[in-house]
Amino acid sequence: RGFCGSRGQPAPLPVPQKIVATWEAISLGRQPVPEYFNFAHNVLDVWSRLEEAGHRPPNPAFWWVNGTGAEVKWSFEELGKQSRKAANVLAGACGLQPGDRMMLVLPRIPEWWLVSVACMRTGAVMIPGVTQLMEKDLKYRLQASRAKSIITSDSIAPRVDAINAECPSLQTKLLVSESSRPGWLNFRELLREASPEHTCVRTKSRDPLAIYFTSGTTGAPKMVEHSQSSYGLGFVASGRRWVALTESDIFWNTTDTGWVKAAWTLFSAWPNGSCIFVHELPRVDAKVILNTLSTFPITTLCCVPTIFRLLVQEDLTRYQFQSLRHSLTGGEALNPDVREKWKRQTGVELYEGYGQSETVVICDNPKGMKIKSGSMGKASPPYDVQIVDDEGNVLPPGEEGNVAVRIRPTRPFCFFNCYLDNPEKTAASEQGDFYITGDRARMDKDGYFWFMGRNDDVINSSSYRIGPVEVESALAEHPAVLESAVVSSPDPIRGEVVKAFVVLTPAYLSHDPEALTRELQEHVKRVTAPYKYPRKVAFVSELPKTVSGKIQRSKLRSQEWGK
Ligand code: ATP
Ligand code: MG
Repeated sequence: RGFCGSRGQPAPLPVPQKIVATWEAISLGRQPVPEYFNFAHNVLDVWSRLEEAGHRPPNPAFWWVNGTGAEVKWSFEELGKQSRKAANVLAGACGLQPGDRMMLVLPRIPEWWLVSVACMRTGAVMIPGVTQLMEKDLKYRLQASRAKSIITSDSIAPRVDAINAECPSLQTKLLVSESSRPGWLNFRELLREASPEHTCVRTKSRDPLAIYFTSGTTGAPKMVEHSQSSYGLGFVASGRRWVALTESDIFWNTTDTGWVKAAWTLFSAWPNGSCIFVHELPRVDAKVILNTLSTFPITTLCCVPTIFRLLVQEDLTRYQFQSLRHSLTGGEALNPDVREKWKRQTGVELYEGYGQSETVVICDNPKGMKIKSGSMGKASPPYDVQIVDDEGNVLPPGEEGNVAVRIRPTRPFCFFNCYLDNPEKTAASEQGDFYITGDRARMDKDGYFWFMGRNDDVINSSSYRIGPVEVESALAEHPAVLESAVVSSPDPIRGEVVKAFVVLTPAYLSHDPEALTRELQEHVKRVTAPYKYPRKVAFVSELPKTVSGKIQRSKLRSQEWGK
């Protein structure tokens, strides 16, 4: 009954809180996952009926702007109608069957959300990719996933054409454009003509929903498969607690559509009846973000730490945010200094979360929980997150080890199925009763986790173990530092030492580098344990980053070690 008539006639609807509480109970592992589950049918269509029955404030379900006047607003009903039309395009012109894979490489335009939902309705497995993917990246992803179809925009279509011949599985190409291109189907034209009648396929909870390629921060991106329920129900609880969403919230996550955080937003916001706000943001611009927050009634903001680092460089007191009451970050370590500046200037606390493409949110700071600056929060229910040694034994509070999630005797349902076509990698990610994240951290006696770094990023200098993030956070407190990356560097006596690559704030660009090096070294010695100070400092104009904006310390490390 909680699923509102997924079989037979729709049951009469109870009030939304009761329905959402059922989803939340499943998300928390307190109720069994149903055998059949489809997010479009079991969540979106339910909200559409709740909306019709007047159980929702008059917020749109989806609100898109492009910054130059264009705007799209959909209610759940309109989203339902448009996505059923889109499902007919996928099943008709593209001939996609349940289980077939489709790659989505789109800017932040409404079609991404539409086609994601259409994939759910047809049972097609979506594979989002970021728009910065070049020919070789697209070829790698299309070949590895054997995707049958791709949907993309004008600027990326030529890159697909260049490698098309080497991707034999690719059968149809959909273009989101006002013009036509040989060999491509025009999505908008097909959508206009498509019927709004479509019956959602019946999917089992364990059926695949999405394949994500990891960010590739440490090597070739891996294919992570999620099921209908792992994503469809896995974010309801964190959506309520960490993101603190209700049906009157308007949630803006500035993330690119190609990386997991776009799905995290979708699957946290819509079950909670919230509105997803999107700005096309052709490029990340702090002023555009701040003006958008001032213009629209956005209640909840999520950006990666890199963006918050940019935002706090601006004079935030010049802006009046209309409705902002909650802000979030994750994907990388948040430097305490950035959190404090943001909070001081806006009055809004910044709540950090931690997770991977392989998982949902596994550590977080639920709204209202006491924040310990520099910690990524506590284990997020229903996950049992522990710090374990290399044999999978749980370590006591205070000891550094691997961040791990218990998967035996019961593997949490909101967890990836496997690394696709890579049983070795899947097996290597497990140790004893645990899944090993590949990250190093400590847990304190109150259950808060303190991130040290990725396994390979931790520096071992004269038998001291140093997490790059601690040094980077210390550097961030100095006004000369815009951002930095800390890695190991060879040293004849100590084996390896700490080296900091520093991007300077404009005001310090003309300072004497030697004096500044000494000043930064003294500063780090003052604000953290002195042995962590960077013995080597290099000033650079930018840091190597993944397309999702994460610092690639491994690139700098290889450069240092001449690999
Ligand atoms: P690859 O696995 O291909 O190297 P990736 O790990 O960067 O790529 P994602 O799954 O997008 O790909 O990122 C998850 C990782 O991001 C985590 O394992 C962790 O290293 C880092 N991360 C996420 N959130 C946080 C956070 N709050 N603090 C520190 N690190 C974080
Ligand atoms: Mg990873």
